[in-house]
Amino acid sequence: MGDATTGTAYVTTSIPYVNGRPHVGHALEDVQADLFARYRRQRGLRTRLQTGSDDNSLKNVLAAESEGLPVAALVERNARGFRELADALDVEYDSFIRTSVDAAHRAGVTALWQACAAAGAIDKRHYRGLYCVGCEQFYTPDELTPDGLCTEHLTRPDVVEEENYFFRLSRYAGELRRLITTGELRIAPESRRNEVLSFIARGLQDFSISRSAARARGWGIPVPNDPTQVMYVWFDALGNYITALGYGTADVRPYETFWATSQERLHVIGKGIVRFHAVYWPAMLLAAGLPLPSTVFVHGYLTVEGRKISKSLGNAADPRELVARYGAGAVRWYLLREAAAGADADFSVARLAARYNADLADDLGNLLNRANSMLHRYRGGVVPALPPDPLALPDAGALAAIAAALPDRIARAMDLFDPRLALDAVWALVAGANRLVDSAKPWTLYKAEKAGDMEAGKALDAVLYALLEAVRVVAVHLEPFVPSVAALVLAQLNAPDTTACPYAERVRWGGLQPGTRTDPPTPLFPKLDVPDTLVFAPSGGLDTRRQGRLRRGHP
Ligand SMILES: [Zn+2]
Repeated sequence: MGDATTGTAYVTTSIPYVNGRPHVGHALEDVQADLFARYRRQRGLRTRLQTGSDDNSLKNVLAAESEGLPVAALVERNARGFRELADALDVEYDSFIRTSVDAAHRAGVTALWQACAAAGAIDKRHYRGLYCVGCEQFYTPDELTPDGLCTEHLTRPDVVEEENYFFRLSRYAGELRRLITTGELRIAPESRRNEVLSFIARGLQDFSISRSAARARGWGIPVPNDPTQVMYVWFDALGNYITALGYGTADVRPYETFWATSQERLHVIGKGIVRFHAVYWPAMLLAAGLPLPSTVFVHGYLTVEGRKISKSLGNAADPRELVARYGAGAVRWYLLREAAAGADADFSVARLAARYNADLADDLGNLLNRANSMLHRYRGGVVPALPPDPLALPDAGALAAIAAALPDRIARAMDLFDPRLALDAVWALVAGANRLVDSAKPWTLYKAEKAGDMEAGKALDAVLYALLEAVRVVAVHLEPFVPSVAALVLAQLNAPDTTACPYAERVRWGGLQPGTRTDPPTPLFPKLDVPDTLVFAPSGGLDTRRQGRLRRGHP
């Protein structure tokens, strides 16, 4: 991230097809992108988070036909569901683009097409190919299963034959290879970068970027100067990353700030669409003479209760129900704590509850509750003075040292896009504080103080201060990950709102002001009582798997 105190950053989610309801995989991408944006904002970068919906897909047209609805009504309804999910998950997006109705998008992709055409990157050809509507992509026979099926959808692609405009991708192979090899275009994790480089090494084929308006049922953005064709949905969808900033319109200031001159342009995407973001999109930008993304981060897929999820397979459960029941904090915590950078992970309600109970209820919640209870019992709820030499008490000093190392440890993990690793670092401070309670035994210090031992009283002050300060520092670091959890903790500590202060100052040891009166100790994260039979059912929502056990009186 370079100099983190100045500059701007731009973070995007992909824009999903809105032919159905969101599933928990969308929640993972929303939460990761939001974390990356909030983290950059916390460290002082002016950061814009972009999300939205891909309305112009042929899949949306087919879904509308099967529901007997006008396409515009279907995408309107479904896009609202995706927006509600982002809101429910505390995703702090700056704009939600809808590619069918945002006038700026239509103007922007038209300008992008014209820039590519002016550079000689587009021509019209006759074409015959195998098209998977699920993927909105042409495949060559060797990219299909031995039976000739799409590997993603296990359906047979349509044979499509028509006149189309082509993008001359093959022209850009050398330049793309150079940009990715030098890291000017970073693809993370490393395994995805290697996958892209070997895809380029096999030879890049020019690809079709339009459809006949008839095959697209007239739905989509018309090709400039050719009303018989609409733009291929990926050309249109990829353009959203700059059209959402006003590219090609009268007001290009956001584009200048967050794309053209931005310190970082980060796309967060799923592993199924790497080729579009790491090859097609950069090539389109090269052709148009525009800056490339700086990083494409590729997350893995989630399974739900051990099974693959996919809208087209019809087993995509709606995460809004999960958030309504357990809260955004619990869901975000699970998604960020459980999935390693870029790797696949499984989502299960039992694991969500176990994680929440072990980490938030036990480790952090109990720590705060014990420390604040002792503060109220021994010091009337008033934070004692920070000892003149915080290292005087070895265990309390050790906590300050762990806290001092956190900003760098978190930065290293976040540079690898690894929230789990970053939270491991934060949890070292939680664990250290819990150890301090056990080793310092504040209750024995209090007894000794009562018996007249003034040194014990000073040690008790030092321990109580260190415990509460550790909790405060942890909460500030948790803000980008689980903002609602952090806010609850800071509120109980009655910590002043420092969000406008520089990050380094906010997390510096000693921020908790002596004399602060904390709120009465109340457990903030009561354990989730989740029967181990409760599952996030593929057929839709929360359900119990073995009813018999419930009837015997289990909660
Ligand atoms: Zn497919």
